[in-house]
Amino acid sequence: MAEHYDTLLQVQEHDIVLDQLHHRIEAMPERAALADVRARRSALAAAIAEVQAQVDDLAGRQAALEEQIAASARRRHDLEERMRSGGVTAARDLQAMDHEVGQLADRQRTLEDQELILMEAEEPLDVALAAHQESALALESEAVRLTAVMAESEVELRAAIEAGELARAGCAAGLPGELAERYERLRSHLGGVGAARLVGDHCDGCHLTLSSVEVERIHQLPADTLASCPQCDRILVH
Ligand SMILES: [Zn+2]
Repeated sequence: MAEHYDTLLQVQEHDIVLDQLHHRIEAMPERAALADVRARRSALAAAIAEVQAQVDDLAGRQAALEEQIAASARRRHDLEERMRSGGVTAARDLQAMDHEVGQLADRQRTLEDQELILMEAEEPLDVALAAHQESALALESEAVRLTAVMAESEVELRAAIEAGELARAGCAAGLPGELAERYERLRSHLGGVGAARLVGDHCDGCHLTLSSVEVERIHQLPADTLASCPQCDRILVH
């Protein structure tokens, strides 16, 4: 029976290592970094959408102006053609047409000035958009890099877990069912540690000191009798 307790402590050691390996998978620094990259990426996507909407609005207004400029130019071209063709001879008509051509030219200049203002307004937005898109690409490649690092680490850790589980199973196979069950029950609600060694006058599980009366009582127990820590209830190997 006494050697079962040593086996139990070996199982406990395997379990601690296995828990640490599982924890290392969960707590990989790259995992937190990746979450951060993803948060920044979605904030950036929102910023890009906002700037893009402003650019689209300006482009829409610019297109409307260009249509008006083209219509104005067509009308002017028609008038000038008719004036040149010689079909209109009355001086009054020619004068009226000439006046309209002048008005159309003024209107075209006004519209072109307005278009220039819109183009100037778009310039800093285009610069911001390009910068945002460059940042988004950088974040994208950082996410790819972190994912690859994590995948690689995880493969290594999973292999270590698999080997550890195999060794643990070999060890645990030698334990009596009742002892193994008790250990599992304690371990499940005592932070993964179900069995501890009595070191001097303290329990290596909860690190609390036992009274000298308790220590004496435990030492006098037959080697095959199960002792429990009076503080934390863990199986105490003495
Ligand atoms: Zn204890």
